[in-house]
Amino acid sequence: MARTRRPLIAGNWKMNGLKADAFALAKDLAAGVKQAGWSDRELLVCPPATLVAAIAEAAGGSGLLVGGQNCHAKASGAHTGDVSAEMLKDAGATHVIVGHSERRADCGETDSIVRAKAEAAWRAGLVPIVCIGETLSEREAGDTLSVLETQLKGSVPPGATAANLVVAYEPVWAIGTGKTPTVDEVSAAHAHIRKVLGGLTGDAAGVRLLYGGSVKGSNAAELLAAGDVDGALVGGASLHAAEFLAIAKAA
Ligand code: PEP
Repeated sequence: MARTRRPLIAGNWKMNGLKADAFALAKDLAAGVKQAGWSDRELLVCPPATLVAAIAEAAGGSGLLVGGQNCHAKASGAHTGDVSAEMLKDAGATHVIVGHSERRADCGETDSIVRAKAEAAWRAGLVPIVCIGETLSEREAGDTLSVLETQLKGSVPPGATAANLVVAYEPVWAIGTGKTPTVDEVSAAHAHIRKVLGGLTGDAAGVRLLYGGSVKGSNAAELLAAGDVDGALVGGASLHAAEFLAIAKAA
């Protein structure tokens, strides 16, 4: 049967990237995407907000998509230091990551805040990548699936469709650690996420579910082949063009 969910390989550059290096990386990625001519998968990079416009311009015409790493729930106003979804859209973004575990931990983002950000993304015409994931202690306590269910129900607003939502399963203990769940654990988490999504949208079968957490060129094929995995959200390895393109090839 033909695959209906086009894999998405998304790079989260986090708080990394000054102009010179970021442009060089974007140019290498854009060239790689153009050369590969992929129509069966999408590649996205999410640079720091300072670079979204410039990287969108550098990527122009190559097929490489550009997204934000966070947005405020409001469109504009007295929110010093924040960036709205509308601003990201205006800068050339197509997607925005919301609810990354680093923001949940560093900035106290709750499920309801994440949900408001996802709604803001829709208002601006962006696709939110809603991140959920259990901590190590939650996994060890056997609470992984219930934690994912609570986060998903609290973070995904009503109105989700296959076209306007991406969900990223990112076990907190796997982010930046070199540790990954087993393929069976990833499949079980993703199957549960899709099941829960079934209660939130009639379109659950079409929503792309990304796995994130220490994905690299050498483990991408295995992790991306896990059941219900439709791509990856990649941190560290997305800062190296060859590595990120190798992950995309594995998709
Ligand atoms: C992330 O930050 O979303 C992530 C998955 O990081 P890493 O790939 O470095 O584990």
